[in-house]
Amino acid sequence: MVKIQRFENSPIDSVTYIISNPANLEAIIVDPGTENDERIVKYLNDNLLTLKYIFLTHEHFDHILGVNFMRSIFPKVQLISSQKTSERLPNSKKNLAIFHNYFNLVVNEADHIVSNGKIQMIDLDFEIFETPGHTDSSISLKFEKYFFSGDFLLKGTRIVTNLPSGSKKQYQESVEKYSDMLDELIIHPGHGDIYVFNK
Ligand SMILES: [Zn+2]
Repeated sequence: MVKIQRFENSPIDSVTYIISNPANLEAIIVDPGTENDERIVKYLNDNLLTLKYIFLTHEHFDHILGVNFMRSIFPKVQLISSQKTSERLPNSKKNLAIFHNYFNLVVNEADHIVSNGKIQMIDLDFEIFETPGHTDSSISLKFEKYFFSGDFLLKGTRIVTNLPSGSKKQYQESVEKYSDMLDELIIHPGHGDIYVFNK
């Protein structure tokens, strides 16, 4: 049975998830949002897990703060993102870090670029959905009934669409396009509580 572990980040209140497959002891981290996150290293070590992938929903600093640390501890880990996210990671204006006192947050580009479609990772079948609106780069990850939404879906909170590359119109189109697919999925958002989507 696949395991999903949630970690709340600080100082920004984003949420990180670790998805692991007990059959092969491999793991994916979604949006590592705490710098130097020893909790995650301990969790992986305690559970004898190998970190294979870092999956980024989008480039905002509060979702990528832990990438450099994870890459330094696990040099073989592969970073997965959309093309636009990847291009913005090395730019602290575009990843918004410079506006939040993380002046030196520069992350090297992704190892794998993904877009809409099925993808196999850690011997499990996932599907990626392009979900623009919060940013035009945003993607979400689905595994069975679990949906990792980044900042595309948050429980009981209006989604911010006025940051660079955000669009309210695109956001509404994304929700409309996917609401049937999302119905009754268990949303694992980039901030706040896990909840069930009801269209
Ligand atoms: Zn964001």
